[in-house]
Amino acid sequence: MTATPTQPVPARTATKTFRLLVADDFAQEGLDFIKNQPDVELVHRPKGKEETDEQFAAIVAAADGMIVRSGIKVTAKMLDAAAKQPGGSKLRVIARAGVGVDNIDLNAATAQGILVMNSADASTISTAEHAFTLMMALARNIGPAYKGMCEGKFDRKLIGRQLHGKTLGVIGFGRIGRTVAERALAFGMNIVGYDPMINVPTMLDGKARMFTDFTALLPHADILTFHVPLNDQTRGMLNAETFKLCRDGVLVVNAARGGVIDEDSIVPAIESKKCGGAALDVFVKEPLPEDSKLRNHPKILTTPHLGASTKEGQEAVSLAAAEQLLIYLRGEGIIGAVNAGGMRVDLDPLQNAYVDLAQRMAELVSPMITRGIASITVELNGSQLAAAAGTIERTALVGLLKRHMDVPINVISASHVAAQRGIALRTAKTDDDTLGTRLTITVQGPAGSTDDNTLPGDEVRRIVGRVYNDLRPRVVEINGYHMDMIPAGSMVLIQNEDRPGMIGIVGTEFGEAKANIADMTISRRGHTALMLLKIDGDAPEALINRLQHRPGMLKIATVRLPEVK
Ligand code: NAD
Repeated sequence: MTATPTQPVPARTATKTFRLLVADDFAQEGLDFIKNQPDVELVHRPKGKEETDEQFAAIVAAADGMIVRSGIKVTAKMLDAAAKQPGGSKLRVIARAGVGVDNIDLNAATAQGILVMNSADASTISTAEHAFTLMMALARNIGPAYKGMCEGKFDRKLIGRQLHGKTLGVIGFGRIGRTVAERALAFGMNIVGYDPMINVPTMLDGKARMFTDFTALLPHADILTFHVPLNDQTRGMLNAETFKLCRDGVLVVNAARGGVIDEDSIVPAIESKKCGGAALDVFVKEPLPEDSKLRNHPKILTTPHLGASTKEGQEAVSLAAAEQLLIYLRGEGIIGAVNAGGMRVDLDPLQNAYVDLAQRMAELVSPMITRGIASITVELNGSQLAAAAGTIERTALVGLLKRHMDVPINVISASHVAAQRGIALRTAKTDDDTLGTRLTITVQGPAGSTDDNTLPGDEVRRIVGRVYNDLRPRVVEINGYHMDMIPAGSMVLIQNEDRPGMIGIVGTEFGEAKANIADMTISRRGHTALMLLKIDGDAPEALINRLQHRPGMLKIATVRLPEVK
């Protein structure tokens, strides 16, 4: 099905729950898979080159999920324009079929609460095979040999090197690095590896020797192959200085990301014979400039970023992207997300009950936060909660922040919004039997957030909750006031001086305003008390204002929480 931006976006077909926009050219297997899903309506509509992001926005806004490859850019402009469509944007998830999300404005998506995922796993074998192909071709001079044949030569002096018995240094022992190493073992090679995230002396059943220092590995390798992400630690990790530590004539392969090997150091290392040759699939600037020294060098073999480019690889990434996206939309899990840090949807009933409790607790304390937030600490006690920590933390954040913010905020955007505002976030997981399973949220106000008119205790807000066997949420403590209360429905929190007559005042005011108090919990701490009222219907604003001015009343807040089933 196709549509142009000028055509109205059709209403969702009644039997289809999700509309999925494939906004790029896509493998037929992936399209067929989506078409065969009973609950999905496929819109295959690659964005036209001449079309502006704004023009495309209506199509984006009408979709629940969008899949892209590297053919289009998902910009902040496009997402903003989608959000401004009449009725807003439905888009909840963007899947990039393939590795990396360089063509998606991650900040803009995160700020709008859109989950972004990629299907990196699916291209592991294709990329590993490409790195292996480069290594073999480099060792056997396939590049210059083929070039010579094309030019009419028949040069039999191109003496290569056998891989058997050589030592391969695998830098980055993740999915692709490991896959390359397994294949190298089958070729009779020795493996040495370096990966700071692996702290065991050997990998692959003792067949790969691991180093804890990159420079310590270098003198042991005849060939180096890089499979690391590009970041501040890996940028230029092989350079003029570290080349000096390598074996003479070392061969170098990079099918990871351009810039991991300092490009300026390659030709000098080859000229000094330190480096016997380099095979590169990726470059700092892509496409590689026509006048680059890395082109047309007999000892440098180059390919135009073909690592994942196999028929099987493209089919696999397309299928995986569609599958991952639907798993998320259907609420069955989160796979391959790049902006959901620890979020999970596949939780057990108790974990889900704690997620719900986190939201209720956060919404309950949120109106008490009137002078800003410096930090939020979420403490989870009980081993069963550990797996749900990320989801609970993000849910609590949403509950705490949404009342105070104009921007739409959800579990995907919450930590981004908090970070932008300099709010420090900490989650502590403990397993102390004496405390029992429980959730504590502590909100620390900024320095100076209390003054002569506010209580010093107001600088920190602390709420503790539990879920018992009945799976119903309970709040057991607010700011040192102990209670056992189901946070649900329309609630009024009243902090007052602990002196005779206060309950009477509250009762009279509510009675006169014809607001029925359905339930009431009172807790005392020092010279103050906290009353928690559940009322039928919402508390009239005039009543709250009046109560606020009665002597002895310190602080009043209202909140409406979902009912408990
Ligand atoms: P991965 O996340 O599974 O593995 C990366 C590994 O690098 C991790 O184990 C990590 O601990 C390690 N690492 C991080 N910092 C390191 C450092 N300073 N030194 C050594 N190791 C370090 O990723 P992957 O799927 O194996 O992909 C590896 C690389 O290949 C990525 O850069 C990816 O973008 C690239 N890639 C390229 C192509 C292509 O077309 N050429 C295709 C797919 C992937």
